[in-house]
Amino acid sequence: MPPGSRAPDRPGLRVAVVGAGIGGLTAALALAARGHAVTLAERRTGFSEVGAGLQLSPNASRVLIDLGLGPALRRAGTEPSGVTIRSLRQGRSIGAVRLGAAMRERFGAPYLVIHRADLQTILLDAVRSRPGIRLLVGRSAAGLEESETGISLALEGGNGRAETLAADLVVAADGVRSALRARLDRRPLRPVGEAAWRAMVPRHAVPAALRGEETGLWLGRGRHVVHYPIAGGERVNIVAVLPQPGDDGDWGAPGDPARLRAAFTDAAPDLAALLALPESWLVWSLVDRRAAAPMARRRLALLGDAAHPVLPFLAQGAALAIEDAAVLAACLSDAADVPSALARYAAARAARVRAIQGQARRNGRIYHAGGLAAAARDAVMARLGPDRMTERYAWLYGWRPA
Ligand SMILES: Cc1cc2nc3c(=O)[nH]c(=O)nc-3n(C[C@H](O)[C@H](O)[C@H](O)COP(=O)(O)OP(=O)(O)OC[C@H]3O[C@@H](n4cnc5c(N)ncnc54)[C@H](O)[C@@H]3O)c2cc1C
Repeated sequence: MPPGSRAPDRPGLRVAVVGAGIGGLTAALALAARGHAVTLAERRTGFSEVGAGLQLSPNASRVLIDLGLGPALRRAGTEPSGVTIRSLRQGRSIGAVRLGAAMRERFGAPYLVIHRADLQTILLDAVRSRPGIRLLVGRSAAGLEESETGISLALEGGNGRAETLAADLVVAADGVRSALRARLDRRPLRPVGEAAWRAMVPRHAVPAALRGEETGLWLGRGRHVVHYPIAGGERVNIVAVLPQPGDDGDWGAPGDPARLRAAFTDAAPDLAALLALPESWLVWSLVDRRAAAPMARRRLALLGDAAHPVLPFLAQGAALAIEDAAVLAACLSDAADVPSALARYAAARAARVRAIQGQARRNGRIYHAGGLAAAARDAVMARLGPDRMTERYAWLYGWRPA
């Protein structure tokens, strides 16, 4: 039996998963491990992931480890010893968060940082090598039709060729701009007036004070910057969030380095030197939307950003998609029928995804505070110290699939 597999409690279902992002790939693995026959349809033809890093907290890494991906994650990921929090303009220390071994011991799984492309490769290799998963690329979901006994998913190929998949259920993991979400919830996406600029630079070029193993977090009024080493410690991933109205409509538009530098002319010298390094940036407009209510109905389940985009101030978007996948697979292993299993999935996820979306929004306000609010934040962080800063998130990182 492949790693992470459990014998199914009843004959396997036919599951169509739309979207082979982090959520769809993990769902395919988790469902196949329970004995279901999965078809994974992805509209892209290639799997080149953007050059950016991803933080994988213990609530997510434990799911991937349970799926047998621990050795590959350990090879590709790094485990920062902690987070150092500084003031963006003065460079003075505000506080710290303990990660590394303390996190692993407290929550039973590591807090990793990893290149997105490496995580995508690990998941794709597993999907391609495990029985029970058929991957169709260059296929776009075009429609759904449900009956009492099943659901059919219409797919369109790039050449205009249409095909229909007959399934017991469809999992829509088609990302933040999901077309299938409208079947359950029509709330529009809301631009939040900020954008995340992302870049990677060689680690040896980074100012010596910022070259360590830890994650750096710099807080300023209306802006913040995060950086951490990835790619086996060879490179440093940088994310800078700043005010930027509108919604560019897609992921990863190129950004002008001069514009980024102009937004941080008042930054502390080490940070300014770091932000001067990248020759190219990719920019994401930040958008928000309340979690779909419900996240599933009858034979259609939403998963990941399609169900609940999460602002990046808590580094939990991919982690929540990974959690969704584990819970969905667990709900489908012991329910008598698909609609009641999906109702259980929706009920099991509702409170948690709302709590995490809410905490991410609050973190954005805390990170970007100015004046008295910033002074109060700094005082609280200094008083808590690194261990209690970690402990505040025990509810988040200590999560385990039921
Ligand atoms: C700046 C920034 C930093 C972030 N940092 C972190 C972090 O540190 N940790 C973390 O956990 N999360 C982070 N996130 C969030 C994370 O990137 C997302 O939440 C995560 O990628 C969502 O995964 P997903 O599988 O739901 O969607 P996606 O990764 O968007 O995948 C959706 C897939 O569906 C495909 N698709 C779309 N429509 C169709 C269709 N009609 N038919 C077929 N296929 C289709 C797409 O091509 C895509 O492959 C960050 C996000 C941003 C913007």
